[in-house]
Amino acid sequence: MPDFKADCLFCKIAAGQIKADIVYQDDRTVAFNDINPQAPVHVLVIPKDHYATLDDVTDRSIYRELFDTAAKVVELKKLSADGYRVVANCKENGGQAVAHIHLHILGGRPMKWPPG
Ligand code: AMP
Ligand code: ZN
Repeated sequence: MPDFKADCLFCKIAAGQIKADIVYQDDRTVAFNDINPQAPVHVLVIPKDHYATLDDVTDRSIYRELFDTAAKVVELKKLSADGYRVVANCKENGGQAVAHIHLHILGGRPMKWPPG
């Protein structure tokens, strides 16, 4: 179920119960600076609804909402000219640490490929 999960860090950020450095938000999504940035710009985009992993998403319109907010972040952070990376980690092999889906938007330096 996509509802608020009381023990979820990102649900608490979405609800304003834990402070975050918010870059943009609307009624469905929140974008905030990563607490441990891996690039000069490192913003996380989350839905306000709780989905633990990408595999738990039942309403795929959430993807449209996340990418619409990602586009706002790209505009606000002026990332388009030089480019940027959008990443979503899923479960253990994907390197997912927080069990509430999120996009990472990384910019401000060249990225390597493939990721480690
Ligand atoms: P992932 O490994 O894809 O689950 O990414 C989780 C991200 O959340 C990591 O980049 C962390 O640095 C970030 N993070 C964890 N706690 C917080 C927090 N309280 N505020 C902002 N970012 C956080
Ligand atoms: Zn959550």
